[in-house]
Amino acid sequence: MHSVPSRSTQRFLGDTGSRLVHDLLNETPECGTLEVLRQGRAVGFIPDSLRAAVAEKFRPCPRCLPEEAAAGGQEGEAAGAAAAVEDHRPARA
Ligand SMILES: [Zn+2]
Repeated sequence: MHSVPSRSTQRFLGDTGSRLVHDLLNETPECGTLEVLRQGRAVGFIPDSLRAAVAEKFRPCPRCLPEEAAAGGQEGEAAGAAAAVEDHRPARA
């Protein structure tokens, strides 16, 4: 298992100024995450996930998280739960 991540090893970084969350594995120079860190506006999330960031009202950065930004921050899971109910026919025993 992983140890508790420090600020420099976590993946998602929130900017409390712009309310954007950046993916540090995919960040671009335009993200300005270094400046965010320097100005002390950076926050991490527990767990270190996009879901956690969105739950705290951060928006995915359109530069490093373009797909998530286009989807409005939805990850689209939990869609299969409702579909399972449909297949419930009486058995012919
Ligand atoms: Zn970004």
